Order: sequence, then structure tokens, then C-alpha cells
Amino acid sequence: MGFDGLGLGPELLRAVAEEGYTEPTPVQREAIPIVLAGRDLLARAQTGTGKTAAFALPILSKLGQHAPGPRALILEPTRELAAQVETAIHDYARFTNLKTTVVYGGVGYGRQTDELRAGTDIVVATPGRLLDHLERGTLRLDKVQFLVLDEADRMLDMGFLPDVRRILDRCPRQRHTALFSATIPPQIETLIKWAMQNPQTIEIGARRTPAETVKHVIYPVSDSQKSDLLLQLLERVNYNSVLVFCRTKHGADRIAGLLKRANHAVAVLHSNRTQREREQALRGFRDGKFEALVATDIAARGLDIAEVSHVINYDVPQHPEDYIHRIGRTGRAEHSGDAFTIMTAEDSSHVFAIERFISQKIPRVKLENFDYKYTMLFEEGKPGAPKGFPGKARGARVHGGYHFAPGRRR
Ligand code: AMP
Repeated sequence: MGFDGLGLGPELLRAVAEEGYTEPTPVQREAIPIVLAGRDLLARAQTGTGKTAAFALPILSKLGQHAPGPRALILEPTRELAAQVETAIHDYARFTNLKTTVVYGGVGYGRQTDELRAGTDIVVATPGRLLDHLERGTLRLDKVQFLVLDEADRMLDMGFLPDVRRILDRCPRQRHTALFSATIPPQIETLIKWAMQNPQTIEIGARRTPAETVKHVIYPVSDSQKSDLLLQLLERVNYNSVLVFCRTKHGADRIAGLLKRANHAVAVLHSNRTQREREQALRGFRDGKFEALVATDIAARGLDIAEVSHVINYDVPQHPEDYIHRIGRTGRAEHSGDAFTIMTAEDSSHVFAIERFISQKIPRVKLENFDYKYTMLFEEGKPGAPKGFPGKARGARVHGGYHFAPGRRR
């Protein structure tokens, strides 16, 4: 089924066709008719499912023509997501006269204020800067008819819920609200009861299996050798672009410094960087100026970065779904990609949780000719060793517990 049967206007169908979308994704198929019918929507869906168009297309359709506003408000947890969503909406709206403005912190007020004063239909914003505009009187929300809370669980993680509530207090009670969240923890449940009216719920199954095109392996190593192993992997692997994930901002800075000293062209992306630095990092990585991007999950979540040849988890992700999300950055659109996870003994329980989540054991491999120090991980599978996923590793032959990955020399 194409987009035609969903009830969207011709300008939007034309824009969608220009984007190259031939059929709606599951979340679009389910969400568009609900929003068009004027119902509140609660969607359990992750990023990468096409959810931006799922809320943007019906809202654009309902807004119709440019009018005093803003009449739609979309809240996002990070500046990058706000910018990305604004760009997407701008593209979907290209055959209409509707206007979109993005509002986030870390940059000056001038341009945002000018755009808001000139009149806009849709505001895409991060909570902090939006509140600043409300306080300065450069924005009012009394005409808002459509409100989207995107990535609500991330907004909770980042401590934005009190801000979100203050913002919602400034919007009319008579409005349509859509909330997207990968998980619904109790605080989000409370927010839903408070902010929404009898929402219709849809659930788009989280992807629980890695893409077939991604080869993923684990490199067990002792904690003191993590950095050496990372450098060796980068030396030996023939990559075009590599995304390195770290758990903390501090860790990301440290690893970026290490890679720079080893003459890699590297950029770093985390929430303590200035907005300018973040934009330069992403643009440079997309353009190929940087061969490596070192990032934290929060900064990288939901960003549409195509064409990554390798993902390296310098730290094992703490939430199993983040594993799928991180390694989904490679092997996109049928390009094959590799995902390496560096694991120390302390990470065992997180790795086992990931393996249970994806219902497969991830092959353990050793890098040939790397001067390994002993770690108890090398005992895995032997009697008395920690027990993880009971199944066998798929996709790799494991001899005596290990498979050697010689890597490819550049
Ligand atoms: P999102 O989850 O909204 O961040 O979207 C993820 C990616 O899917 C973006 O690159 C979109 O351009 C793309 N996308 C969204 N809807 C469709 C569709 N119906 N067909 C093909 N690609 C799509």
C-alpha cells in the first residue's frame, strides 16, 4: 500500500514522493490516520522507524495554510534531533506555504527571535531555550493546536520533565497531543495521564535483531588494554568511516584525544560540546573530513548518519536496546558493515543482557598478534566460568572458545 490511501493532501504526497518514499513504514501507516482523525496518540516506537513523518505529515495536513501561530509545537530532547526534525518537516512542507522554526540553546537568540516574530506555523524546540523565549515574551503558545512530545523517555533521562510540564501549562488545554517514547516508565505514564486525553496507543515492535548486513563480534580484553586494542583495531581494519561509542562525555573526550595523537582525523560529539562544535563534528563526519566520530549515546541517539562502515563500542552499552541502535548505524541500506564491541570482565552482565535481548550469542574473537594480557574472560565457556546466553555463536566458527580475526590491513 502506498501513501495515497492515508488521507494526506496532494502537496504532501508530492513531497513524500520526492523524498523517495514509496510506501509508509508501519508507524506511519498506523499513526497518520489517528492524528488525522484528531485523536491523541501514544506511540511506542524507536528512532529510525520513520516516526518523524508519522507525526509531521498529518499535522502539516491539518494545518493546511500559513496562519498566525505557532499552531504546532514539537519538543525534542537534543539540539541535533531538533535540527534534524526541523529539516525533515521543512522538506515535507516544501509544496505548502507553512513555515517551520527551530529553537534550541547554545546559539544566539537573534535569528530565532526574528523568525518567531515574522510568524511561524510549527516550532521544533528543546525545552530549555523554548522556556527562555516564553520568558522573554518572544513566543506565546496560546494558539498551539498540535503538540508532539518526541523521545519522551530521553527527555526524562535528561531531566527535562519539569520543563516540559511548565511548557505544557502554557499551551491551551484544547489541543491534540502525540507522545513518542521507546519505553514508558512510570514518570512518563504520569505525564501521559496529565497531558493527554484518552490517547489511542500504537506499538511498533522494537527491532530486536541486528540487521543481517552487520557482522558483529566481541573483543574480550583486560581493562588496561582497551585503548591499545582500539588503536590496533583501527590500524588493521580497512574502514571508511567509524563511529566509536563511549559511555561518558569524559571518556569520549579522552578517546578522541587518543585517536588524534595516533593521527586519526577525529571529531567528538557529546552534550557538553558547544553547539558550533557539535554541528562541525556532525557535518565534518558526514562530509568525510573526519574518519572517526567519537560519541556518547545521548548525543548520537536518533541521528540519521548513513554510510558508516564500522561501529566500535569502546564501552558496552548499558541498555540492550542501545546495542541494536548503535550497531544499526552500520550496514544500512544493504551496505555491509562491521560492529565491534570491546568487552572487559566487568561488562559480562551487560553483554549477557544484550545476548538475551537479541536471542543470539555474539561471537568472541581475538585480534591476531596482539599482545594480550590474561583476563578471566578467556575462561568463558569453561566449567566454573560466568554463564551467559546458552546458545551457540552464530555466524562464526569458534575454535576452543575463540575465533581469530586477522583484520584487513590498510
Ligand atoms: P526517523 O525515524 O523519522 O528518524 O526516520 C528514519 C529515516 O527513515 C529517515 O532517513 C527518513 O528519511 C527515512 N524514512 C522515513 N519514512 C520513510 C518511508 N516511508 N520510506 C523510506 N524511508 C523513510
